Amino acid sequence: MHHFSYKNGILHAEDVSLEEIAKKVGTPFYCYSTATLERHYTVFKQVFDGIDTLICYAMKANSNQAVLKTLANLGSGADVVSEGELRRALLAGIPPEKIVFSGVGKTSFELKAALDAGILCINVESEPELHNLSRIASEMGKEAHVSFRINPDVDAKTHDKIATGKSENKFGIPLKDAERVYAEAARLPGVKPTGIDMHIGSQITDLQPFDNAFSRLGALIRSLREQGHAIDHVDLGGGLGIPYKHDNLPPPDPQNYAKVVRHHVESLDCRVIFEPGRLIAGNAGILVGEVIYVKQGEAKTFIIGNVGMNDLIRPTLYEAHHDVLCIEEKKSDAEWITADLVGPVCETGDYIAQDRSMPLMKSGDLFAVLSAGAYGAVQSNTYNTRPLVAEVIVKNNVYEIIRPHMSVDCIINIDNIPKWL
Ligand SMILES: *Cc1c(COP(=O)(O)O)cnc(C)c1O
Repeated sequence: MHHFSYKNGILHAEDVSLEEIAKKVGTPFYCYSTATLERHYTVFKQVFDGIDTLICYAMKANSNQAVLKTLANLGSGADVVSEGELRRALLAGIPPEKIVFSGVGKTSFELKAALDAGILCINVESEPELHNLSRIASEMGKEAHVSFRINPDVDAKTHDKIATGKSENKFGIPLKDAERVYAEAARLPGVKPTGIDMHIGSQITDLQPFDNAFSRLGALIRSLREQGHAIDHVDLGGGLGIPYKHDNLPPPDPQNYAKVVRHHVESLDCRVIFEPGRLIAGNAGILVGEVIYVKQGEAKTFIIGNVGMNDLIRPTLYEAHHDVLCIEEKKSDAEWITADLVGPVCETGDYIAQDRSMPLMKSGDLFAVLSAGAYGAVQSNTYNTRPLVAEVIVKNNVYEIIRPHMSVDCIINIDNIPKWL
């Protein structure tokens, strides 16, 4: 569900014409819809009515402060994975007591920053990290509240690059080591285990892996409590998938996911934390580009646009599908072709869509790449000395630039030429 639709033949974000924004801001640009962000957050929150929940939006999906603030205003917390993200979250008004910190490689500097900020919980992912945190917190005279991220060894049945809960993945502590690690933490100074955590992957469209993982976690919580650990919260991570293709069966909606969650947590009597990222932001954003050339190759037709893999890496990195729409709605008698929508980057992997049936576009035509709100702008880079593109957010009939187009100077000027040259 999202708020990008045609009005009078022009694609709009809520009540704002994307053609208008393109004229004023210039392409390419990411465009986010406030109503869609709010709806996704609210729907997810509501399906857990009656349970003590905290939603810690996984801000790595989209960390623009305007997005964060929109969610913070609804009561959202944040799941951060770096000191930089922690700072952004705090600046956007997310209170420290609603922030959890995930990641396999938190540095001493990052752990200190988390302790200084007084965040809700640090999700520890290894024994070396536990010992480092214990040392740092003791030196600071603080007690760190920790959860251990448990790797339940379940196959999330998603793309290999976004599966995180299998035994061969780098994430979390193996289930079989969990009791020993909790016992170790209880002995160490400066750390207090208060919760338990998991996150088995992203774009998960089958509820069975969640069901399996939650049941393993539930059993572990029961034995940890028997061993005297006061587990007051369980963090079930994120990972619920979203529809990327308009003609596909939708993935399990939050209602069905909530049924699975309730089945496992209702008897646990503890607070439940969620870390959804993609579910909140994915379909709340699009990437708008412009056709540069239409090139008739020997074997294929190439629509060459001004958005490349540096702007949106998901198609080539995850073999991801993104629907593409023309900003000007095509008439029913428009000519349709099968073509590749590619960018200008000098890489064969630089494509947005391959062998896609789409209306024939011409130079100057505007198009929208849908479902680009999560893991889009945040993964963009300046490869080929291509500046980061602008980001815009719409609310009803107004919009604002929330990150301007970066200038080429900005990229070039950070180079330093050594004195000997
Ligand atoms: C990436 C990530 C998430 C969010 O995953 P989504 O699929 O975007 O919901 C949540 N928790 C952790 C620890 C993550 O690394």
